[in-house]
Amino acid sequence: MTKPKHWLFTLALSLLMTSTACAAPKLQVTASFSILADLVRVVGADRVEVNSLVGPDEDAHVFEPKPSDAKRILQSRLLVTNGLGFEPWMLRLIQVAGYRGVVTEASKGIQIRNMPAHGDAIGREIDPHAWQDPTHTMTYVRNIALALSQLDAAGASIYASNAEVYVKELQQLDQWALSQIAAIPPAKRKVITSHDAFGYFAAHYGVTFLAPLGMSTDADPSARDVAKLIRQIQREKIKAVFLENMSNPHLIEQIAQDTGVKLGPRLYVDALSATDDAGSTYLKLMRHNVQTLLAGMQNN
Ligand code: ZN
Repeated sequence: MTKPKHWLFTLALSLLMTSTACAAPKLQVTASFSILADLVRVVGADRVEVNSLVGPDEDAHVFEPKPSDAKRILQSRLLVTNGLGFEPWMLRLIQVAGYRGVVTEASKGIQIRNMPAHGDAIGREIDPHAWQDPTHTMTYVRNIALALSQLDAAGASIYASNAEVYVKELQQLDQWALSQIAAIPPAKRKVITSHDAFGYFAAHYGVTFLAPLGMSTDADPSARDVAKLIRQIQREKIKAVFLENMSNPHLIEQIAQDTGVKLGPRLYVDALSATDDAGSTYLKLMRHNVQTLLAGMQNN
């Protein structure tokens, strides 16, 4: 009687060893844009395979999903979005694709920032660009860890620990940025960018950002608004004028030309850069932006 039992035990053991030796299938995740995809990669590490609908250097505000994007989300078990109106095309994409998997909003639980809608003193718009404040990105990362854990309970402790290690890096980044910016006299902390994407950064670090476009890149500014901004740049002698990696450069180039200001290096705003460029991860993007902004503000 001992022989069959032994045989069964050996079989069970070998099955167990095969299943642990073979890499378990990775959890398929789609992120709406490249910055979120980086955060999912950090938290999910080798248990997760992530792709991004809006790629590096691309603009999520004006993204138009293709049939291949619908196919892509259908292969995923988790769809991570920013929320706060950043992806106006997402709901329709989910419906058209017939996606039935989990959708998680990475920004859930942050202190939402509103600002008056462009040209409208009464209406208020929600600002979607919460990742520009690293303390909000900590919430993103913890939300992502929770969503991954719910789909892959076996990885829960790994996701939680990856998230907390990264949160410590975000804290270091934040302390560094706070101390660097504090060294700039408040009167010099003025910056011009293409669109209003730095509201959370501005509130957290005490920098004023002015932009000819509103919080989305999809509208044309009025000639009156642009003329007003040009007068302000001249009056306040603002030299810190920057292009963005994912939005149309023409308007800001025109403003720089009209005011005689030399454009600074590009900021990485609503997207990572390509891998060989300075903003290829969220941490690199933030360090690049802070350094670039500091150099610009020192010239004001
Ligand atoms: Zn934006």
